[in-house]
Amino acid sequence: MHAHLSAASTATRPHRAFPVPDTAATAPLASRCSAPIRLVGERLTVDRETGEIVERFASADAPDGVVLVACGNRRANRCPSCATTYRRDAYSLVRAGLAGDQARGISSELASHPRVFATLTAPSFGAVHRRVVRGGSTLPCHRGAYEATCSHGRPISCGVRHEEQDNSLGQPLCPDCYDYEGAVLWNAHAGALWRRTTIAMSRLLAARAGVPRTEIGDFVRLSFVKVAEFQTRGLVHLHVILRLDGPDRSAPPSWATTELLAEIVAQAAAQSWLRIQRPDDRPFVVRWGSQLDVRPIRPNAAGEGSDVRVAGYLAKYATKAAENAGGADRRLHSAYEIGQLAVTDHARTMMATCWALGADPRYELLRLRAWAHMLGFRGHFLTKARRYSVTFGVLRTARVRFRTTLALFARALAGETVFDPASTLVIGGFSFAGVSMPAIMGTGWSAEGSAP
Ligand SMILES: [Zn+2]
Ligand SMILES: [Zn+2]
Ligand SMILES: [Zn+2]
Repeated sequence: MHAHLSAASTATRPHRAFPVPDTAATAPLASRCSAPIRLVGERLTVDRETGEIVERFASADAPDGVVLVACGNRRANRCPSCATTYRRDAYSLVRAGLAGDQARGISSELASHPRVFATLTAPSFGAVHRRVVRGGSTLPCHRGAYEATCSHGRPISCGVRHEEQDNSLGQPLCPDCYDYEGAVLWNAHAGALWRRTTIAMSRLLAARAGVPRTEIGDFVRLSFVKVAEFQTRGLVHLHVILRLDGPDRSAPPSWATTELLAEIVAQAAAQSWLRIQRPDDRPFVVRWGSQLDVRPIRPNAAGEGSDVRVAGYLAKYATKAAENAGGADRRLHSAYEIGQLAVTDHARTMMATCWALGADPRYELLRLRAWAHMLGFRGHFLTKARRYSVTFGVLRTARVRFRTTLALFARALAGETVFDPASTLVIGGFSFAGVSMPAIMGTGWSAEGSAP
């Protein structure tokens, strides 16, 4: 996964190993980063033949006594520059799995494999205000008898035709009727439910092929990339691209069609569930909502359902992520903090429910307090099967290589010594020295950057 380092998490994880930065190569990214990470250490360029040190760079010799590298945060409200880099990588990664990526050895033949785009939703935990659009006109939110009320005396209908930007969208009609425990526990199990669903898919595939599940990989392989998106009601949605391949990303057997894949996804989603316990010991079955959407992805076609469109859609959601949720963009440290956040009452209650359930030892593994800012959801926003396409690491390495080449070229033009990577070796060690706060520190190698 993409290194996701926030100021809060670095404080507890100071020992992350950093690659030796090429200062000229990392500076452009770091200079645009809102909160670059400060590193201290040294880099030695050694002649491979003789072992002679041909260049020594120490952070102590740098203007600020530190090397700055980009924070890598993928949230646009935390760092617009790094979020853009992340979104581009996410797009390349998703697109490579749909249309191939010649430069990274992924065949464009993939475009002819069966592929579907599925959206898996959460069930309802109570009526919320919603925007209902049908045939170009907006309908009333919840129809019902005008005077009917719930046991808390609140109306169970809402005749408002909500606008797109209406703040009440996603908020429950009655917060006291709304099942907050269920909603939070569902978010916390969404990842586990997805894993069950993928197991069900491979079992269904094996049944079609008439082979044991352990052997299905010899015939056909399922790979996917998924993005979690928060709905306004604070529950996660999964948008998933699924693809069928033969072994080693070859063409799948002819019986493995797009229709079969769509059928298997729908069946697996309907069959998969987890039984857990509510705080009051009542059983709670975690399953997908009934609004399942599975559609084929067409190769190189324009418009809705084309691979270009789908890749862009997923990449956009990978960055937007939790910002829509009305959740917080960083970890919370106390119940008091939850009360102080500028969020909707609904999001606040979701977080407070996480906090309260987080004290229950039965939910210890869900780490609900650590993930209260994400309304209980513990997963990554973008995950993929290893086979799907390239990794973020590969894309990052390619970027660093490209920038290093540019930097070397610039040095050569400026008449500086350039070391051939074939005959020299770069070694060294850098460690974490803090996060630059944009208001206090300079944001790059700029002259106004103050001393640490
Ligand atoms: Zn950044
Ligand atoms: Zn309403
Ligand atoms: Zn009520």
